[in-house]
Amino acid sequence: MARLVLKFGGTSVADLDRIRNVARHVKREVDAGHEVAVVVSAMAGETNKLVELCRQAAPMHDAREYDAVVASGEQVTSGLLSIVLQEMGVNARSWQGWQIALHTDGAHGAARIAEIDGERLIERLQQGQVAVVAGFQGLAPDNRISTLGRGGSDTSAVAIAAAIRADRCDIYTDVDGVYTTDPRIVHSARRLNRVAFEEMLEMASLGAKVLQVRSVEMAMVHGVRTFVRSSFDDPDAPQTGEGNLPPGTLICDEDEIVEQQVVTGIAFSKDEAQISIRDVADKPGVAHAVFGPLADAHINVDMIVQNISPDGNKTDITFTVPESDYDRAMKVIENRREEIGFGAIEGARNVVKVSVIGIGMRSHAGIAAQCFRGLAEKGINIRAITTSEIKISVLIDSAYSELAVRTLHSLYGLDG
Ligand code: ADP
Ligand code: ASP
Ligand code: MG
Repeated sequence: MARLVLKFGGTSVADLDRIRNVARHVKREVDAGHEVAVVVSAMAGETNKLVELCRQAAPMHDAREYDAVVASGEQVTSGLLSIVLQEMGVNARSWQGWQIALHTDGAHGAARIAEIDGERLIERLQQGQVAVVAGFQGLAPDNRISTLGRGGSDTSAVAIAAAIRADRCDIYTDVDGVYTTDPRIVHSARRLNRVAFEEMLEMASLGAKVLQVRSVEMAMVHGVRTFVRSSFDDPDAPQTGEGNLPPGTLICDEDEIVEQQVVTGIAFSKDEAQISIRDVADKPGVAHAVFGPLADAHINVDMIVQNISPDGNKTDITFTVPESDYDRAMKVIENRREEIGFGAIEGARNVVKVSVIGIGMRSHAGIAAQCFRGLAEKGINIRAITTSEIKISVLIDSAYSELAVRTLHSLYGLDG
């Protein structure tokens, strides 16, 4: 007997038929004698609709009221799944974030989980009840509903798994695992059987939105074995794969991975914008004058390139910010024109960041050179580069994004 958390994403609960299908997955685990907590997302498209309604009501709305609105999608699915499970003879009960209680900080709209009362949930499970928890939502210190940022149900699931000391957290979605790159973009993408926490963290933060970044952080910190699988499988098919599981991807410790590849995957993010400041004085304190005010405005700067001026006089600084912060960032810099002292400011929104990820890079040289050569051969210009021990990211024109991802995917031998 195991204790499991099963999380179902939006497409998996898109309508009543899909919810009935989810209920069969839940029932299978209950019938096998496991203790089961379920976490659900809102029906596909529902959260987008609610977000848009808030925007139409007032573009600059109160974040607490935004949370009151957008958290409602998960309330509906947790109730509906409980009704369907009860109808199938399963002892199920829905739980909202505030009822568990899943406590968060006060950052409405993008709250972080602070504490979960796992013991009360465990008690329920031990009484033979299936707890159907509304994902994405929690209770803020002001005693109001909070939400965890888009894709946050993954984080609810992993956090609950950690709090109830679950044996595994199964993330059911519309693909049967984590692939070498987004399978909807590159058809030759391959499913990975195992991915190390650290690699998954890079993949998710560099654009592979199959898991919310914070859910991977949480899984890594608490050692939650996380299994990504499809809810579109036949719920009653024999579970015959490794560990009696169907095809899927286990996110686990690095030492559990036997076949180590140099490059594990390619991720890409279109949520990027580039800003270049020309003719900045090349003297101490300039970088601080530029990036200090951006930090004060809570704008995350990612890639930074600063040239060394030939005459030690003037230089250029280029950096990237999330596309959604582009206008604000431009304004922050413009407002500091006197203080920073620069010639011109230029920006580009039509850029994409493509990243090559793999823990094997730590012990292999030449991976970056291979990437640059591959892109050059296709005539793709690189605007900026950043690297870490286990990843290389390049910023390129968005017109080339698919070509770049496909090229790198083949280049590192990832095609299936
Ligand atoms: P859910 O609604 O179940 O949370 P998401 O849409 O958030 O599902 O995540 C699943 C999607 O993630 C897939 O449909 C796929 O297009 C996308 N995706 C992006 N990168 C990857 C990857 N490397 N492996 C698998 N899926 C990926
Ligand atoms: N429903 C929320 C969203 O669409 C949370 C989630 O699905 O994970 O972002
Ligand atoms: Mg998701």
